Amino acid sequence: MAKITRKSPAKSRLSAPKRAKKSSKPAAARPARSRAAAKKTKPWTAAEVYEAFSRFRKANPDPRGELEHLNPYTLLVAVVLSAQATDAGVNKATRALFAVADTPQKMLALGEEKVRDYIKTIGLYRNKARNVIALSEKLIAEFGGEVPRTRAEIESLPGAGRKTANVVLNMAFGERTMAVDTHVFRVANRTGLAPGKTPLEVELGLVRVIPPEFMLHAHHWLILHGRYTCLARKPRCEVCLINDLCRWPEKTV
Ligand code: SF4
Repeated sequence: MAKITRKSPAKSRLSAPKRAKKSSKPAAARPARSRAAAKKTKPWTAAEVYEAFSRFRKANPDPRGELEHLNPYTLLVAVVLSAQATDAGVNKATRALFAVADTPQKMLALGEEKVRDYIKTIGLYRNKARNVIALSEKLIAEFGGEVPRTRAEIESLPGAGRKTANVVLNMAFGERTMAVDTHVFRVANRTGLAPGKTPLEVELGLVRVIPPEFMLHAHHWLILHGRYTCLARKPRCEVCLINDLCRWPEKTV
């Protein structure tokens, strides 16, 4: 899962009247400005939020995450490996890894060096291999070899943070959590649905405004929306399901 990165806003050389015009620069070049704009926009009403998620649900009633896994343990490992990497890149490496090690016991038997070999196409693989072995040891020593079901326990595992806990709690255990990755962060800020400077701020904002009946799948709807429609550089506003509701001043429809 890709990491959120924030760029400093580039200094504009445009005169004041020209700045008011729509810019032709890619959207990703102006994240800070876009967030500031989103802050000034009118917050979404409860009816608008309901309408947006009703449309997401109608279009894709059962959205799925794209990280391949076989059980809660392999999901946990896949999420830990996905930091600063794409889901597709992680899947490529884990298909072979999980075929030989789909439990903490098998992962320990494989050993750090071999884990490293399986995942060497993923960024930060040395550190990640160390974490996979360490978290497997901790699962066996403290949790009977099972992935724990509380946020605090998951976050206590090497390599796992709040986002990992949210993904595992949601996808493995069906909890109404909201993991904020780079796509969710962008969509929440750009649309004005839940503006925030940090992933935690956005997470808490989304949890506050999204009706409980949508929360199980909201994380996936927003990720898929950001990945395939509300793209960082060239959002596809013309085919966007929520283009009439979106508050982004620079939307193209
Ligand atoms: S209208 Fe454009 S900017 Fe707004 S959510 Fe849709 S794709 Fe993103």
